[in-house]
Amino acid sequence: MPESLQVIFEELYGGDSGRASSPEATIQNIFMTDPNQPKFYKVKELPEHILALVLKMWERELGGLPKDADRIVFTYFKGIYTKDKIAEDLYIHEMAHFIRQGNGENQQMADQWWRQYCEDKDFRYQEELLAYREQWKYIVGRKKLNRQQAFEAARYFAHELCSPKYGNLGSEMTALNAIMKK
Ligand SMILES: [Zn+2]
Repeated sequence: MPESLQVIFEELYGGDSGRASSPEATIQNIFMTDPNQPKFYKVKELPEHILALVLKMWERELGGLPKDADRIVFTYFKGIYTKDKIAEDLYIHEMAHFIRQGNGENQQMADQWWRQYCEDKDFRYQEELLAYREQWKYIVGRKKLNRQQAFEAARYFAHELCSPKYGNLGSEMTALNAIMKK
């Protein structure tokens, strides 16, 4: 990995040395039945071997960091790594990744998930699709969206899913249909 990329990344997430705060208390109630809750960390606390995988992926597929790199939230093993406080629906999205990585109970599984995520675009697409579907279903229910609003929300998530930060995974139309699929 070129050293400069890591330097730029660290600058993006530098500054405040405090711990990232968790979402509002309400969100904590959503998974109260689940004893495993991810902890919150600053992005610069993301373990180095995961950061190395991510930077290598971006370097290979984008030739550098994505434009909105400083807004990206990472879930690894027991934690959610974020620069800022995250919204409830994004928490649901990250919970999907948390559960798929072994619910905070299996570090090997989390490591394997990240290796495959960074190296295998189909896997990355499927994992993000799953997370965006959960995020969409949550927001539609929570905010009682009507059909048009639900469609707009799905279109936004499809746009995100196909954005450069994931390495341009496919067509927004396909993603849109997949997010809204019954
Ligand atoms: Zn995701």
